[in-house]
Amino acid sequence: MQANNNIIIAGGGLAGLTCALHLRKAGFEVTVIEKNTYPQHKVCGEYISNEVLPYLQWLDADPGILQPKEITRLQISTVKGSQIECHLPLGGFGLSRAAFDHFLYSKALEKGCKILNEKILDIAYSSQGFSLKTDTATRQTPLLIGAFGKRSSLDKKLHRHFIDQKSPWLAVKAHYRGEFDDNLVALHNFRGGYCGVSKVETNLINICYLTAYDQFKKYQNMEDFQQQVLFRNKHLKHLFEHTELAFESPLSIAQICFEKKELVKDHILMIGDAAGLIHPLCGNGMGMAIHSAKICAELIIEQYGISDQLQLERNYSKQWKANFEQRMAFGKRLSSLLLNGALSDIAMSMLVRFPSILPQMIKRTHGQPLTILPSHD
Ligand SMILES: Cc1cc2nc3c(=O)[nH]c(=O)nc-3n(C[C@H](O)[C@H](O)[C@H](O)COP(=O)(O)OP(=O)(O)OC[C@H]3O[C@@H](n4cnc5c(N)ncnc54)[C@H](O)[C@@H]3O)c2cc1C
Repeated sequence: MQANNNIIIAGGGLAGLTCALHLRKAGFEVTVIEKNTYPQHKVCGEYISNEVLPYLQWLDADPGILQPKEITRLQISTVKGSQIECHLPLGGFGLSRAAFDHFLYSKALEKGCKILNEKILDIAYSSQGFSLKTDTATRQTPLLIGAFGKRSSLDKKLHRHFIDQKSPWLAVKAHYRGEFDDNLVALHNFRGGYCGVSKVETNLINICYLTAYDQFKKYQNMEDFQQQVLFRNKHLKHLFEHTELAFESPLSIAQICFEKKELVKDHILMIGDAAGLIHPLCGNGMGMAIHSAKICAELIIEQYGISDQLQLERNYSKQWKANFEQRMAFGKRLSSLLLNGALSDIAMSMLVRFPSILPQMIKRTHGQPLTILPSHD
């Protein structure tokens, strides 16, 4: 690896921007290439675990300035409408992705990162480093970080394994006007999916649901699907009937995949969802995306110009697995349990009888507050 060269980060979502801020703080030249402009709404539950706060504060990017909603309670309901509630062990905050991503983008610019609004079309690696073809230029870098999210045209170009697998999930999200407790995040089950509800900084309610695509396509349209499927859960029926859509129309994304991904592909270090997406039911994808950015940045800072690329790749994969592999596996088991109709009812009645299990389950899908190594301070 050559020192003092510009590092390129492909994708400017939470993972890419956080990694850029961290590397810049350590004195690196960083370029983020992002195909979209900011601010931009994204399909997301918009509940962020507090575990990322110390790290964001250390990066001088405390989202508290955006006045997010402080969330301390979790409510879960079954299709049949029984409901349990618990205190969230670590808690979190409700902040729209449009505001959060835009805030990190502005911070990255302020700190001297370069951000290019270009779409990367292809990536090639040789002993000279990486060559990126974008829609307007060809760019070179000795070190490339892949932060292009859960599914990108680049995954196809890079022949990543997961891209050919069936991805049966669809997600829908919009903001609504209405009454909802500021400090609450609710997860309401329906047949074949679940719906997350919490408030964001604008005082609007973010409603985001994930469903099996096969089930969704049986219905004429979104409205029909919501009425026939979601409304069987009385809490969701009440929610939709007592709120008013604040978007022109809801946003949706299909082909969401929770399969394992390569952590390094063609020497690109993958961070955030590009490395793996935990089931959104666990409410911690953003925490993991930011945490993986931190691990990647720390290793680059430690090894840049000293050790070789392969060693960096091995160390990154090792640390990623040590931090996230068990969490991902638990999230997968938990989601298949809670999204399976009959099993979900049994699991929920167990939780109603033994409510102390719920905080334990949350802890297993979340990490500890992200601390900074003294050597990096
Ligand atoms: C339905 C659903 C609900 C969720 N709810 C929650 C929740 O409540 N809490 C939580 O913590 N997590 C949640 N998550 C997970 C969370 O949204 C992700 O983990 C998080 O967005 C990952 O950030 P990222 O930076 O890796 O990816 P992204 O935020 O997707 O950023 C990737 C960026 O790369 C850019 N890009 C892609 N291809 C190219 C290209 N070719 N050239 C240039 N740029 C490119 C994209 O435009 C994008 O901006 C949810 C996920 C889903 C699917």
